[in-house]
Amino acid sequence: MLTALYLHIPFCNQICVYCDFHKEIASLKKKTSYVEALCKEIFKHKDELKHIETIYIGGGTPSSLPIELLEKIFISLHQVIDIDAKIEFSIETNPNDITDEFVTLISRYGVNRVSIGVQTFHEKHLAFLGRTHRESDVHLAIDRLHRNGITNINIDMMFSLVNQTEIELELDLKKVSMLDITHISYYSLIFEEKTKLYHLYEQNKVSMNGEDLEAVMYNMVLDTLIKIGFEHYEISNFAKDGFESKHNITYWYTNDYLGLGSGSHSLINGKRSFHPANITKYISQIEQNEDNLTYYDVEPLRETLLMGLRMMKGINVAEINCTYQIDLLEMYPKLHDFIKDGYLVMNNEYLAFTRKGLLLGNIIFGIF
Ligand code: SF4
Repeated sequence: MLTALYLHIPFCNQICVYCDFHKEIASLKKKTSYVEALCKEIFKHKDELKHIETIYIGGGTPSSLPIELLEKIFISLHQVIDIDAKIEFSIETNPNDITDEFVTLISRYGVNRVSIGVQTFHEKHLAFLGRTHRESDVHLAIDRLHRNGITNINIDMMFSLVNQTEIELELDLKKVSMLDITHISYYSLIFEEKTKLYHLYEQNKVSMNGEDLEAVMYNMVLDTLIKIGFEHYEISNFAKDGFESKHNITYWYTNDYLGLGSGSHSLINGKRSFHPANITKYISQIEQNEDNLTYYDVEPLRETLLMGLRMMKGINVAEINCTYQIDLLEMYPKLHDFIKDGYLVMNNEYLAFTRKGLLLGNIIFGIF
């Protein structure tokens, strides 16, 4: 049954040096046409959206849309989904977009979870990354959300930044621990190809941190967040009790979800598909009522393992054996070695990473 809906907003006010997401800086005209197309798609799928339990508006930066356009999307959603407090309704934002007007709008339409792109509190790192907010914007944003009754708040953070010291990370963690939030996503900075950051790297203008420093920093993140009461429930995600992201868990346990908007992916009844990433093409296909999905194959078992093992609870081996008619540990004998050496552990029927294993994640994922 389809329970998760994702809407992609491919616009940003600025482009960060490390970002390889599907997004662009666009004119108001283009944004308006895009939102019209997106709303048309929402209506097209209305019969499939009856049992939706999570809605996630991501990007790009959804909060970079003008208020009137955001409102159009909310109205369309409300016309096809009975949105009540039981639905986890999330939106991604930048701290400096969280104005009084924005918060009033999202609370009026039932958004009950806000994800804020903070990344770091250090001005010099923020400037290098291409972020336009300051630390004070983060505090103002969280305060505004609380005052309007939105208390389920995630922040996206990054460690292993270019030239970041352990002391700087410690300071970031200290500041994180003072925030009244329910969820934290903490990723290491990745040098993705075709980004400005990668270009700088190729020109020898910046260097990557070594694996040892990255491991030290990851351990600092884990130790601090666990100590201040967050549960480490996915490789890079931490939540206060009961505030895990239901929407993202849908992805990690490869359950069905519908993605709408340019470049968005869907998984429905085991079939994967995606929309064209080109925004103009996406808009024109919707306007012409053309079929705009491309289907592609994945190996379901491999995907189940790669995604499910990201969860600290792990994967249910008995269930996987039954679904795929296999013996997982026989199929991948290396798993025995990882268990014997303390990188993986069997907890009842669940195979999961140990803390030591997390640092070897890529090697372990590599066997699939
Ligand atoms: S704001 Fe987010 S989506 Fe936009 S460029 Fe920066 S990281 Fe990418």
